[in-house]
Amino acid sequence: MTDDEGAAAEDPDLKFWTTIRDANSRFVREDGYVWRPSATYNAGLELPPVDNGLDYLVTVVDHLGPHEDDDAPNALHLKYALLHLDAAAEVLLKARLELAHWSLVVERILPGTTYSKYKAGDFKSVGTEEALRRLRQMVELDIPKEGDTALEALGKLRNQLQHYGLVATREEIEPVAAQVLDFLVTFLDDRLLPALPPVARVRAENDMLHVRHGLNQIQGFVDERMGRLDNELKGREERTVRCTRCFQDALVAGDGEAPTTVRCHFCRTAFTPEDIAAEWASVHRAWIGSRDHGPCDSCGSDATVACRVVRVSDVRAAQDGSHTYNHVTFCFACALPATPAVPAPRSTP
Ligand SMILES: [Zn+2]
Ligand SMILES: [Zn+2]
Repeated sequence: MTDDEGAAAEDPDLKFWTTIRDANSRFVREDGYVWRPSATYNAGLELPPVDNGLDYLVTVVDHLGPHEDDDAPNALHLKYALLHLDAAAEVLLKARLELAHWSLVVERILPGTTYSKYKAGDFKSVGTEEALRRLRQMVELDIPKEGDTALEALGKLRNQLQHYGLVATREEIEPVAAQVLDFLVTFLDDRLLPALPPVARVRAENDMLHVRHGLNQIQGFVDERMGRLDNELKGREERTVRCTRCFQDALVAGDGEAPTTVRCHFCRTAFTPEDIAAEWASVHRAWIGSRDHGPCDSCGSDATVACRVVRVSDVRAAQDGSHTYNHVTFCFACALPATPAVPAPRSTP
């Protein structure tokens, strides 16, 4: 008898949800259908934060997954996928803060801040970025840095949507959604579900079956489309880097018409060399000093140069299984390293 089974014998609610989760994990259908009895089962109108966050995640994978009418998600599906993913991230990060202490969810503790006001929703809560900071700093959780980059990219897309309507394409949205989903699934598995009481945890695990299946599908679309670009990108490995918008190795310098000569073949975003150099520095700011590069040896500009650029050729040259890559100071205008490479001690001429 497992722990779950032992506890389930005592608690009818836990027995109910354990049976459902186990049946669903044995019989996940090819289309990913997972039976989800109403999350409000036995709980009146109350939808606890974790259920609420998972509910958003389930709708995200449903919006981005294949649709009967028309195989690809349409503009409305993309819009709601973005909004719900953003809401899910916020709700789930805060749910973990609340488990540590409710006051961590409150942006500023004022003299009148009380638990009853908190319960009544009469307070301003922290945003996603601050929630992450508090989880690391005050709850002392080890949360991977990649999550920040993905959440930032999602935030940009959401702002775009709110200010200009949906201008992003499926190619821009799906890879970001896949990264954020991947981050949230890991966060749920490692940091949130283990801290929940048994019934809530088992109920959440049931929803996770559906979310995981959906994530695999979305990742599948991304990989498939990336595979189709193989030929297009072949031979350009020395001037191809990971795109700051869609995270695919498809951003090629010296490609396309001036002034936007840096172009992503996956999400089709085009940059001027100056814009991408600035964006590169801002996305990778955690490990780049403010100005540790000089002007480009070939064109003399320093506004088109970024340091610590890992190119696809650098990744391919790395040893199998190694996660440390050579990097260069790179000029996006010249599509070349900005300074002659410093020979590594063990390299042969
Ligand atoms: Zn891209
Ligand atoms: Zn240059």
